[in-house]
Amino acid sequence: MKQRVAIVGAGVSGLTCGIVFAECDFRSAIFAQDIGQRTTSGAAAALWFPYDAEPVDKVIAWALQTYQVLLDLSHDPNSGVSMIELRQFSRTGKIQIPDWAIPLGAHALVLSSEYASPARTEASLTICPSVFKSGFTLNVPLMDTTIYLDYLAKRFVAAGGSIHGNMRFERLEDVGREFDLVFDCSGIGAKTLVADVDLEPHRGQVAIVPKIDNLSCAIVCDDAPLMYAIPRTNDCVFGGTNEVSGNCAVDPTSTSRIVAECSRVLNIDKPRVLDERVGLRPFRKSGVRLDRGRLRDGRTVLHNYGHGGSGFTLSWGCANEVFQLAQNVR
Ligand SMILES: Cc1cc2nc3c(=O)[nH]c(=O)nc-3n(C[C@H](O)[C@H](O)[C@H](O)COP(=O)(O)OP(=O)(O)OC[C@H]3O[C@@H](n4cnc5c(N)ncnc54)[C@H](O)[C@@H]3O)c2cc1C
Repeated sequence: MKQRVAIVGAGVSGLTCGIVFAECDFRSAIFAQDIGQRTTSGAAAALWFPYDAEPVDKVIAWALQTYQVLLDLSHDPNSGVSMIELRQFSRTGKIQIPDWAIPLGAHALVLSSEYASPARTEASLTICPSVFKSGFTLNVPLMDTTIYLDYLAKRFVAAGGSIHGNMRFERLEDVGREFDLVFDCSGIGAKTLVADVDLEPHRGQVAIVPKIDNLSCAIVCDDAPLMYAIPRTNDCVFGGTNEVSGNCAVDPTSTSRIVAECSRVLNIDKPRVLDERVGLRPFRKSGVRLDRGRLRDGRTVLHNYGHGGSGFTLSWGCANEVFQLAQNVR
């Protein structure tokens, strides 16, 4: 009989790992303090793009694997995954197109000081010409978290998995002894759960606004002030912030700043704010933790956390590596 697997964490990492194991007939259960929308994953913009995660070589490999899975999922209208044109800009100079992006079709945008057509997102929506110095374009997967997290949970349950919320563990050894394997997908929670001093909360805040007329591509600029506008099925995500802080409270000043900057870049009147979300990106200074170890009671544990600003981008690549690591465990 296949081993029994307990997964701690119901964000994108735990749900994706859960699917990979449940669909290979492991008897799998997810236990978590918070589920779905209440996790950091629920606050994410969830665009596929490697950002704020280490180490670069592994991150790119996991990201490219994930890209292929998400590309396939974009053909399923129930998944909440779609392909979108990303326009990545720089405020400061010539933007470097990453080597890995070129085989995916990335190419430079030609900007002029006027309202140049390549920077035009649609006939009636233009980007403020004075803001950006250069940019490139690339088609990437976008996960609408309001749909995708539910899709993952339903797919896990359909494969025989179970999800148990309101379960907070002080230590991984507290997971029921009926489980042979324990997976640690606890995001920033690993800071206390396994006393990982390397984890650093990179706080992010976004504003959810109504759909913006004629905005059909994602506009992103990582130069300060961090700015992105990401159109989703029913709304649009305006971002953002990235600071070392564990404060989960919404900061109204940040929302005003985000909405003002996105509106300035998009040349639109400030939209009303439907919602404000805060999440703590689980950034790990020494890199994503994806390894196998032993609990004090002798059971095998697989850690899969510390994905920083790339948890969605790395999710399937990391889950598949967890699966490889779990083979031949006694
Ligand atoms: C504003 C913002 C924008 C972002 N945009 C993107 C983006 O565009 N693309 C992208 O790829 N990534 C993005 N990210 C990053 C992404 O959201 C994270 O990397 C990802 O959500 C991490 O997922 P996770 O499942 O590892 O952790 P989480 O989603 O935090 O889930 C952790 C789970 O573990 C549980 N848990 C923790 N501790 C315990 C405990 N002691 N006992 C029981 N349960 C516990 C929690 O309740 C939760 O269920 C963004 C993040 C933010 C904040």
